[in-house]
Amino acid sequence: MIQLESITKNFGSLQVLKGISFTIEKGEVVSIVGPSGAGKTTLLQIMGTLDRPDSGQVWLNGTDVSRMKEKELSAFRNREIGFVFQFHQLLPEFTALENVMIPALIQGVSSSTARKSAMEMLDFLGLSSRVSHKPAELSGGEKQRVAVARALVNHPSVILADEPSGSLDTQNKEELHRLFFDLRDKLGQTFVIVTHDEDLASKTDRTIHLIDGRVVSL
Ligand code: ADP
Repeated sequence: MIQLESITKNFGSLQVLKGISFTIEKGEVVSIVGPSGAGKTTLLQIMGTLDRPDSGQVWLNGTDVSRMKEKELSAFRNREIGFVFQFHQLLPEFTALENVMIPALIQGVSSSTARKSAMEMLDFLGLSSRVSHKPAELSGGEKQRVAVARALVNHPSVILADEPSGSLDTQNKEELHRLFFDLRDKLGQTFVIVTHDEDLASKTDRTIHLIDGRVVSL
């Protein structure tokens, strides 16, 4: 599902990624751990096609994204990849339903189809009673679940999450972690999760340790 081959990335004179190669299979839940500044977020951004490597190749679901032009890439990203961030990044002026509809609308489906897909996903995540609420009217855990619904609405093959439970309390954190495994079991989604949470990392199928821009164990 994801294949990285000799990825390097520099910011000015700082070499942040020093030749990263690994493969992640469909349906795997993989955590990426390592000290602050190791390059985890940069690596996730490159996997998510939000940033490009200086050298090396990235294949996602059989496609070599390193060669894609920006316009083609943004359509590919919206269809194939769902993102979950530490802070939900929902748009405050829109309801939960409207927020979840956005990636479907960008994909070019009609608003009635986008509404139906968003309702189904919110329902699946136990949020049907919250569809008309705006983010400020939702709890922290609910906001993060709406963000997960938004990441899933186009049924992407990969979900990339950067410290997804970093802003949640223990109970919501555990619920979110359970949700990821549930989604993998029910929908076959592949998850790559950057986390400092040792409890979450210990539950994932595999942990990739990154130190100073290199993989030290897979
Ligand atoms: P981690 O997620 O492991 O904490 P990051 O990938 O966020 O690490 O950052 C790795 C290093 O790259 C850090 O030293 C950070 O300051 C630097 N860095 C990240 N993004 C940029 C950027 N856009 N411009 C310059 N330096 C950056």
